[in-house]
Amino acid sequence: MEPHPASDPLTASRLGPSVAARAAARRGLYVHVPFCAVRCSYCDFSSGALSAAAVERYLAAMALETARRAPDARGAVFTSVFFGGGTPSALSARHFTRLAALVRGAFAIADDAEITLEANPESVRAPLLEAWATAGVNRLSMGAQSFDAEELEGLGRIHDAARPGEAFALARAHGFRRLSLDLMFGFPGNDGGRLARTLDRALALDPEHLSAYCYIPEPGTPLGDRVLRRDVALPSTDAQADEYAMLTARLEAAGFAGYETSNFARAGAEARHNLVYWLRRDHMALGPSAHGLWNGVRFGNHYAFERWAASLEADASCDATEIESARSRADEIVMLGLRLGCGLDASDHPATRWADVLRRYGAAFEQGLALGRLEPARDGVRIPRAHRFVADDTIAWLMAAADRPSRGPLGDVVRGRTDLTPARSAP
Ligand code: SF4
Repeated sequence: MEPHPASDPLTASRLGPSVAARAAARRGLYVHVPFCAVRCSYCDFSSGALSAAAVERYLAAMALETARRAPDARGAVFTSVFFGGGTPSALSARHFTRLAALVRGAFAIADDAEITLEANPESVRAPLLEAWATAGVNRLSMGAQSFDAEELEGLGRIHDAARPGEAFALARAHGFRRLSLDLMFGFPGNDGGRLARTLDRALALDPEHLSAYCYIPEPGTPLGDRVLRRDVALPSTDAQADEYAMLTARLEAAGFAGYETSNFARAGAEARHNLVYWLRRDHMALGPSAHGLWNGVRFGNHYAFERWAASLEADASCDATEIESARSRADEIVMLGLRLGCGLDASDHPATRWADVLRRYGAAFEQGLALGRLEPARDGVRIPRAHRFVADDTIAWLMAAADRPSRGPLGDVVRGRTDLTPARSAP
């Protein structure tokens, strides 16, 4: 596409992510830790009960998986590592130190890498903070979800509303400068007033980064099943959209940029590891349910801890793989990149891949622009601010439009285009 001036440059620069943050997100490494003290009522992540025996088995299987995957990553330097779960903070200091040593022994981590650990507030204690810092962890992502006691109980969280503040203070005292909070809204019992009070409490902690997800009922979870059986009601879609608009306005007024549909950061505090995913750059993945993209192959490890560990112990495959195609790559670039505030930008992708995107989506982009579903961005397109809560609808519409043969004047115009070469290529 022709480079477009952003329709609202001020808004674009506020939304981000910045060019520097996008350039720094080159290669990620995800490590899944599949244990939780208690299972939350809404969660369908791969996670099970914590015991010394289970952790020993996990670490032994991780040693097998790192040995298996490390040769593929020889020569690659990772710019981010993310210990996610489950609850990585549920591991003892000794166990986490062994896990981090395994990872560092097998993969090259950049000296200035972002190393994030997901921590639940109740498990943040001085000895763990010391072990995390010693292992190079420099960013903590804390799952608060809500600061309302009744909501926390309904969600099955085991911390109280005061605990995130205590955990933040302890982390700051141990030198952690990059702290993120996870919040949730739009679940049964949640409303605008409660969300506003939760935001007040969250902002008082002065996090550098904040993620806020709209609840989606997952079948097979206690809360999800109650919603799906209509035992409890969700707020209406309009009410959820109003909550999203309110939280976006509050966070922007407090100096955060909404650089992704559900993610907000102070200047320079974008989550580098998540940018690797949204920009569709190579990422290695370890542990049950972990998903990676490496050298043109997507892989997804077995979801259940037992099956993942048993496969590695038997020297069998621990994953399912899929080789990417030009089409699947273009679909993913569009699906992931349009969630970013800055939208799709040609400069984020190698020239050949951007050409694939335009070949498949050029007509759909033109239709989206004509209908106001998209707006011009710096060197691509983005979802207008007012439609960001329903970004997934726009993306689904674009995919359907790309699958339809182009008809009419717009399609003819796009079929006749010759300017499929991006103005810039990825660094
Ligand atoms: S702590 Fe996190 S991973 Fe564990 S059950 Fe709760 S939401 Fe799921």
